[in-house]
Amino acid sequence: MLDILGNKIQDKIDNLGRKTKIEEQDVKAAIKDIRMILLESDVNYKVAKEFCKKIEEQAIDESVLKGLSPSQQIMKIVKDEMLLLLEGNNELDFSKNNIMLMVGLQGAGKTTTTGKIANFLRKKKIKNNPLLIACDVYRPAAIEQLHTIGKQLSIDVYSEKDNKNVLEIAKNGVKFAKENNNDLIILDTAGRLHVDEELMKEVKELQETFNPSETLLVIDSTVGQIATDVANSFKEYVDITGLVFTKMDGDTRGGGLLSVKSVTGADIKLLGISEKMDGIELFNPQRVVSRILGEGDVLGLIEKAEEFADEKEANDMANKMLNGKFDLNDFLKQMKMIQKMGGISSLLSMIPGMNKMNLNSVDESELKKVQSIIESMTDEERKQPLILNASRRKRIAMGCGREVRDVNSLIKRFDQSKKMMKQMKNMDMNKMMNMFK
Ligand code: GDP
Repeated sequence: MLDILGNKIQDKIDNLGRKTKIEEQDVKAAIKDIRMILLESDVNYKVAKEFCKKIEEQAIDESVLKGLSPSQQIMKIVKDEMLLLLEGNNELDFSKNNIMLMVGLQGAGKTTTTGKIANFLRKKKIKNNPLLIACDVYRPAAIEQLHTIGKQLSIDVYSEKDNKNVLEIAKNGVKFAKENNNDLIILDTAGRLHVDEELMKEVKELQETFNPSETLLVIDSTVGQIATDVANSFKEYVDITGLVFTKMDGDTRGGGLLSVKSVTGADIKLLGISEKMDGIELFNPQRVVSRILGEGDVLGLIEKAEEFADEKEANDMANKMLNGKFDLNDFLKQMKMIQKMGGISSLLSMIPGMNKMNLNSVDESELKKVQSIIESMTDEERKQPLILNASRRKRIAMGCGREVRDVNSLIKRFDQSKKMMKQMKNMDMNKMMNMFK
């Protein structure tokens, strides 16, 4: 994922940090390595070449870099240049009208993203009543898929069963939206396996007819170098106002993301970060660069916590923890919360410095195991774990298909964390901060 790109770059730069004075040949060698890393991460070769040239020019010009160590100097330059590759008009714009047109190749994530955007904007109260219009008349399954998404999110979907005229369907859909007081209309168009003339004509016609505020090209971020070719091909026919990179949670090396603006001039607006309907985020260049370069994403972490945790509930939990009233029900609640927030590794990767850890080794199945054990307990047992004698432990293990030693180990860990919580209560904040120094 993106972190791997950052880790590799950072390792090369860290090597420079061991020297007290920065030498031109060391910089050149490090930059050559960085260029290789960028190419291996699917960054377009022209972009990689230009990027490295700029870094070299600045790194050798020492006057810019007083007061920082050699590695900090280069890191700062890399960071600034990466930002330049990503920054642009990254916000959604509805100044023209309330219409969005979604385009892209088949399988890129268009239909899923259509639902996600409507859901996201409604949740943020930017729009209240979206309508999704199914314009893929070639694949009945695509229309069905949009209806399923609409049902799941309680969002209106407009489609016409036997009509093959896309423009007519879209016009009727927009008319329906007016009568239905929809304040956002998203047209989900057909995708093909490759860019083809017929498909482009159709999209162009839709764009000319409705003049949508946003025409978003959805790109699968795991396709690598092809991302820029796809964007270029679409741009030849339609005026793309922004890009959505999907499957950022998958096996993407990040190169497309870093290349596409320089090569096509199109700005990234949204990222798809999971298969689920809430798996979308606004594109924020600073945050993405911080994540790539291993500085974590504290802002993202706070946002996630705010989104998923009820403030009162979080306060209640903290009070319970500090007063020793924390029981296995609370433990279970926290496990579920972590899962809802995307799992341990996704959360850890947002903490500064944590990208250095091999997060693949974090065993997410451990969470499920703990959850299944607690779910096999009675409410009384969860509230008073002290009553868990040998026969109860045996019954619990059988109930969830685990070993008694798994139950024992969970209870031991729970006791330990309770003890730690008590100690935290008695500790003053200064002492606690010293622990982390
Ligand atoms: P379309 O043909 O462009 O409409 O693509 P779909 O919306 O049908 O998506 C194709 C597949 O990609 C589906 O299985 C989606 O669940 C999946 N998908 C879409 N966006 C994401 C994402 O951000 N992350 C992951 N992991 N999967 C995604």
